[in-house]
Amino acid sequence: MKKMNITGMTLPEMEAFMSAHHQPRYRADQLFNWIYKRGARSFHEMSNFSKALRSQLDEIGVIGHLTIETVRTSYDGSTRKFLFRLSDEQFVEGVYMEDSNRRTVCLSSQVGCALQCDFCATGRMGFIRNLSAGEIVDQLLSIHHFLNIEATNIVFMGMGEPFSNYAQVIKACHLLSHDKGIAIGKRKITVSTSGIVPAIRRFADEQEKFKLAISLNAPNDHLRSSLMPINDRYSIGELMNAARYYAKRSRHRVTFEYVLMAGVNNAPEHARQLQALIKDFPCKLNIIPYNGHDKYHAPTDDQLESFIKPFLGENIVVSIRRSKGADIDAACGQLYHRVVNNTGDTNTYT
Ligand code: SAH
Ligand code: SF4
Repeated sequence: MKKMNITGMTLPEMEAFMSAHHQPRYRADQLFNWIYKRGARSFHEMSNFSKALRSQLDEIGVIGHLTIETVRTSYDGSTRKFLFRLSDEQFVEGVYMEDSNRRTVCLSSQVGCALQCDFCATGRMGFIRNLSAGEIVDQLLSIHHFLNIEATNIVFMGMGEPFSNYAQVIKACHLLSHDKGIAIGKRKITVSTSGIVPAIRRFADEQEKFKLAISLNAPNDHLRSSLMPINDRYSIGELMNAARYYAKRSRHRVTFEYVLMAGVNNAPEHARQLQALIKDFPCKLNIIPYNGHDKYHAPTDDQLESFIKPFLGENIVVSIRRSKGADIDAACGQLYHRVVNNTGDTNTYT
């Protein structure tokens, strides 16, 4: 008999599972608490279950979907990149970032990505498969367990397009925010999308309002389509309408991410067009200097500063996501499984 995956089950699913094994309802509450709140990695830790029940659960169920293959730590110790091995020998990555009193975990939602943005290492892998909610949540639980620290914030900015795996990502968001479990506030969970318009509207209509980030990356359709093929399906105009709808429904500010690439999207004209797009809009602008060593180049500090200047003093919150994980390829867009290409990779095991 194939064992049931416990991590990733909702409370009602645990109730059904327990009741199918002749256990009362409160046992499901206890199981939920053990898995998500106390981060148990084995049934044997579950001290309020009888020995017989623990052994029975061990025979029929399994906790955790992935194993930590490697952990790499940035030079300043604030960022760690985890490479996870999935049960079918696929790999995904998650990143832990510490910043004053914020501890953010960046999660993957797919193995690879079908959307092929030209500047993105994950896009180059192509799409391999979707992750289950259990695989998504287990990235966080494994990191908690490994570091013995709990995250305060979650961002879906790892591998994959979260809205191309909508149901499992939303299920994971519910598990991450459930107050009897991991209990990370809904406003501390951000899903980043390249702009799948119908999914943005659906996300806005969800009863639980998680936060939204949109990877804009270019201020006009011509340039955006050349960088992000998804723009041929959903234009900037449609995207901004959906973003407005989300802001109205959720009363949250939308974050627009803008990967700044020297000589590509950093001209004064681009800043002007971007300003026109987002003025009168309750949003934040997150500038991400390009990370990578391919055909694009990161802006210099001067280029970054001159791009940002026109936005300062306007009613827009601007932030720069400087990537402290660049030395371990944990920066955005760098989540590309190196072991595939380079088994001799000198990873740091900690
Ligand atoms: N698929 C989703 C989420 C994962 S990508 C999305 O596109 O939003 C997370 C962020 O990394 C996006 O804002 C994306 O634009 C950015 N990104 C991708 N490649 C990058 C690179 N090489 N340098 C900097 N940021 C990059
Ligand atoms: Fe996919 Fe996001 Fe990378 Fe585009 S930027 S290829 S949507 S992961």
